Amino acid sequence: MIQEYQLRVLPEVAANEQRIKEYLIQEKGVSARDITATRILKRSIDARQRTIFVNLTVRAYLNELPKEKEYQETVYHNVSDRPQVIVVGAGPGGLFAALRLIELGLRPVIVERGKNVRDRKKDLALIGREQTVNPESNYSFGEGGAGAYSDGKLYTRSKKRGNVDKILNVFCQHGASSSILVDAHPHIGTDKLPRVIENMRNTIIGCGGEVHFETRMDALIIENDEVKGIVTDTGRTFLGPVILATGHSARDVYRWLAANGVEIEAKGIAVGVRLEHPASLIDRIQYHNRNGRGKYLPAAEYSFVTQVDGRGVYSFCMCPGGFSSGSQRSPANRSQRNEPQQPGVPVEQFGNGSGAASGRLGE
Ligand SMILES: Cc1cc2nc3c(=O)[nH]c(=O)nc-3n(C[C@H](O)[C@H](O)[C@H](O)COP(=O)(O)OP(=O)(O)OC[C@H]3O[C@@H](n4cnc5c(N)ncnc54)[C@H](O)[C@@H]3O)c2cc1C
Repeated sequence: MIQEYQLRVLPEVAANEQRIKEYLIQEKGVSARDITATRILKRSIDARQRTIFVNLTVRAYLNELPKEKEYQETVYHNVSDRPQVIVVGAGPGGLFAALRLIELGLRPVIVERGKNVRDRKKDLALIGREQTVNPESNYSFGEGGAGAYSDGKLYTRSKKRGNVDKILNVFCQHGASSSILVDAHPHIGTDKLPRVIENMRNTIIGCGGEVHFETRMDALIIENDEVKGIVTDTGRTFLGPVILATGHSARDVYRWLAANGVEIEAKGIAVGVRLEHPASLIDRIQYHNRNGRGKYLPAAEYSFVTQVDGRGVYSFCMCPGGFSSGSQRSPANRSQRNEPQQPGVPVEQFGNGSGAASGRLGE
């Protein structure tokens, strides 16, 4: 039999399956003989009061073991002999487009200007160590895309993006912890993200797709107003319908499109500043404890939202307990502090500008 419970427990109980079982037995009257396993379905931290609680939805298995997997698996069939589609860019947009193509029975051919996620890391190290930036392999370009070395936060304030459960399950299938299906503010973790990205690439190749690194699309092949393929800097052309998943740093791509009469549309962008606080300070404030987060709580987070003159100002990206890294064009600003900092970025939303102006803004 399966039963579900809403629990409000102390962090030390929430952190340990045995303690959760004991809690169910003592507080909910579950029989110690019957309970075989528990599974956490939802987890969130309530830090509003001095005593911190963790809210859990727990499934208890009585006299039976869990039969279902912790995540839902998508079946990816072999598409070696199916029509090919060119995907430009191996960021999240490109990788998920490629996986979706496989689901639809099409063969993805990914073309990525940067290096694979492991080799790319060496170029990032050079930015910090020698202040040299490889224009094709850096924090913006390379397998995994712009956020590949972040902690892979997986939540959004936006309510209009539809259901993201499928995405979370695909991440689990490729090696992310199933805790991302459970946590109110899930993140994959900087240490795990590269492996997850590699596994996604292996699925794509294993199904008959291709991934070409260090291959930059330089132009689209357009005939009679129809995209027929791409030309790359290696001299190789790839033919087929094209998905451009080049992200917002590929200014050369958008300049090429504008110069070659492809209709492009400026998009509203948000700009902001980076704030850094010592992680211990935020822990002390959020957890109301001068000793900080203790053994069982994660680095604390916060969000900030307000309206100024009719415009929304909000913390866009908060990295609890993280480190700040230099960006592609300013390699020298890596945080030198010994303590983890918590970058939070209040940003202000600007309306649509001209495409050229938006492109130059980033530079
Ligand atoms: C430091 C940092 C941390 C972030 N953290 C998070 C986070 O925790 N959670 C989150 O949801 N979002 C995060 N983001 C935002 C997230 O990374 C982006 O929203 C996301 O990467 C956009 O995906 P994309 O595939 O559209 O573009 P990108 O990730 O920019 O990928 C585009 C890819 O296309 C390639 N490319 C570009 N031009 C060409 C060309 N001409 N030929 C071939 N290849 C090309 C690039 O090399 C790149 O790999 C973070 C971003 C940054 C910079």
